[in-house]
Formats: sequence, C-alpha cells, structure tokens
Amino acid sequence: MAAPKTDQSPGEYDIVVVGAGIAGLMASGYLIKAGYRVAVLEKARGVGGRMATRRIGEAVCDHGAQYFSVKGRAFGSVVSESQEASAVVPWCDLFPRSETAEGPAVEPLDEVGHARWRGARGMTSLPKYLAEQLPEPVKTGVRVCSLGVQDNAVHVTCENDEMVVARAAVLTAPVPQVVEIFYSGGLRPPVVDPQVWDMLSSVEYSPCFSLMLCLAKPSLLPDPGGLEVCSGPVAWIADNYKKGISPVPSLTVQATAEFSRDHFNADPKQVEDKLIEAVHCWIDGETSDEVQARSLQRWKYAFPVSPVKAPMIAVQNKPPVVCCGDAFGGGRVESAASSGLAAARWIQRLLS
Ligand SMILES: Cc1cc2nc3c(=O)[nH]c(=O)nc-3n(C[C@H](O)[C@H](O)[C@H](O)COP(=O)(O)OP(=O)(O)OC[C@H]3O[C@@H](n4cnc5c(N)ncnc54)[C@H](O)[C@@H]3O)c2cc1C
Repeated sequence: MAAPKTDQSPGEYDIVVVGAGIAGLMASGYLIKAGYRVAVLEKARGVGGRMATRRIGEAVCDHGAQYFSVKGRAFGSVVSESQEASAVVPWCDLFPRSETAEGPAVEPLDEVGHARWRGARGMTSLPKYLAEQLPEPVKTGVRVCSLGVQDNAVHVTCENDEMVVARAAVLTAPVPQVVEIFYSGGLRPPVVDPQVWDMLSSVEYSPCFSLMLCLAKPSLLPDPGGLEVCSGPVAWIADNYKKGISPVPSLTVQATAEFSRDHFNADPKQVEDKLIEAVHCWIDGETSDEVQARSLQRWKYAFPVSPVKAPMIAVQNKPPVVCCGDAFGGGRVESAASSGLAAARWIQRLLS
C-alpha cells in the first residue's frame, strides 16, 4: 500500500478520531497501519466506551456490553489476534432463558448456539489491547466540544482548550452527541446536506440501567453465568464470578429499555431496590445480608433504537468527515467494529 502524503497535512495529524470505543479503535488501528498519523481523543479516563468494566473492591463487573459475537472476517481476524494475546476468550455458545427474572432458567431448545466471546479480564480487555497496539497513546480525558471545517481542514476544539487540526475526521460518539459537536462547530445545513443532517438528527437511543452487586456468596444463577430474561423490569443477569472475570461473587443486572426510560430520573436508591427485588431469587440468602456493595450505572445512550441501514455516513467529502459506530448497522459490538472499519476505508479512499 502506498504511504499517504503526510506533508500536505495542515496540522500535526492526518486524521482525528473522536471516541475510543470499539469503533474508534478499529478505525484508528486501520488508518495507522495504512500509514496515517492519527490522534484519538476520548472524553473518559479510559478506553472502551460501552465495553466497560468496573472494579468494586475486589469484584470485577462488566456493566456495558456483556459479550460479543463474531460473524465477519475482518473483525474475526482482530479477535483471533486478540485471543492469541490473551485479551479475549470464548465464553459459551448459548445462554439459558427465563420468562421473568424469578426464573426458572431453561435452555432454549429452538436455537442453534454460536460462540459468545468475552474479554479475558472483563469486556474492556479487548479495547485496552487494541489501544496498546497504537503507536501513540489515546488522549483520554479530552472531551471534544466542536468540530468545524476551514481551508480544507478539520478543526477540533476540546474542553481543555486543546485544538487539533487534521485532514479528515472520524466521529464515533453516540450520534446525538456528534450532532451537538457539529452544530457547535458550524457544521450544519447549509454546509451539511440537509438530508444527511435530518438522518443524523433522527438517530435515537434507548437508555439502560446496569446494577452491579457484590455478594457475600456465589449467586444461584446457572452456568455459564448469563441469563436472558423475557419480561418484567430486567433484561439480563450475569454472574461475573461464573463468567470468569471476577475473583469474588458479583452480579450485573441489566434493566429493560422500558424500565430504564420510565425510571431514568428516579431516585437511584429506589431503582437499585426495585432491581434487587426483581432478582432476589438468584441471591443465596437475604438480600440485606448478601448484597455487600452496589453500584448503579445509568447509560443514557445504550442501544440505538433503529440503527441506520448503512455502515457509516459521510457528512462531507472535502475535507472528509464521517460518522460511524453502533448506530450504523446493528447496535452490537461487532457492528460498531465493522462500522469503524468501513469509515476508515472510506477516509483512506478519499485521502489517497
Ligand atoms: C448495558 C449495555 C449492554 C450491552 N450489551 C451488549 C452485548 O452483550 N453484546 C453486544 O454486542 N453489544 C452490547 N451492547 C452494545 C455495545 O456495547 C455497543 O454497540 C458498542 O460497544 C458501541 O461501540 P461504539 O464504539 O460505537 O460506541 P461507544 O462504545 O459508545 O464509544 C464511543 C466513545 O466516544 C466517547 N465520546 C463521547 N463523546 C465524546 C466527546 N465529546 N469527546 C471525546 N470522546 C467522546 C465515549 O466516551 C466513548 O468512549 C451493550 C451496551 C450497553 C450500554
């Protein structure tokens, strides 16, 4: 592959990538391998976005994505490489299911399983591994406020007053946040095609509460430590100990989109109590004795409600600015990864 001409760059970087979730890291890795100088800006203290793992005392809890599947070849080869580096491992092929959070858990007989993967030390293991492969560290704790275009260059302003100028930009944050970033930088109609703007502005996400519970004893959840729930306030329960990521017993309880929306602004303690009550039958003993610590994560942008039926959206060509992430294609880890790759390939085509 011919090396790109970095000497034409109006700034220090060829490409700026906003967000270091799986989409941003896949895009950056691809573009760096193609020879571009890439700045990755991430507002959080660490990488991974919704592939998130939290430590509570000794417990390790995944509180965003719980597992991922691999269907496509490009993501498959990244996963194989990550497995060789001990960053990811297969978890199981199928999860038991239950009509309500009260159980009983039954094996779904109507389904053929396929490999569900997890991070070796929690879901952040994969994004952390991908970030470690980049020649320059991701700039964490850097919140992008606006993105505009001027003199065929992309101008990015950050909350810490840092300014990045580049030849192209890849935006991977949840789309409503990207729309705000564009708006603040003047990248809106008539500069942006109104149809593209309307499409971006219409992307919505459902929220999700994830409650992490540290337990005194192992839970009663069956192997392999994940349960899909069909109705009621809870959508999913995971035992992080059985899953193999936590050295001590801990549960992650994920609420449904409906419950999360209805209780989004409720008192967090009430939300926690309702979710604990819903899953009490999987806790071995009185919840007041068994639950030793708890932590509630409130995801505002958890799942795209109706993902855009395109792998990415080009916002403009000169300079190239593209939006990607899980809102483009599927609302899952693999769709976000594929979307990041599609955006990177598009940028490469335009810059070369
Ligand atoms: C509770 C929950 C459970 C889930 N379960 C599963 C599952 O089991 N399997 C599965 O496949 N998927 C699951 N998902 C979905 C999956 O996590 C996502 O599809 C995927 O991780 C999205 O990756 P992304 O890179 O598109 O976005 P993100 O991971 O959201 O990354 C975007 C990044 O942009 C950063 N950012 C945002 N704004 C700015 C800014 N202004 N400046 C700089 N950085 C910014 C964010 O901090 C974030 O790191 C789940 C999601 C949630 C919330």
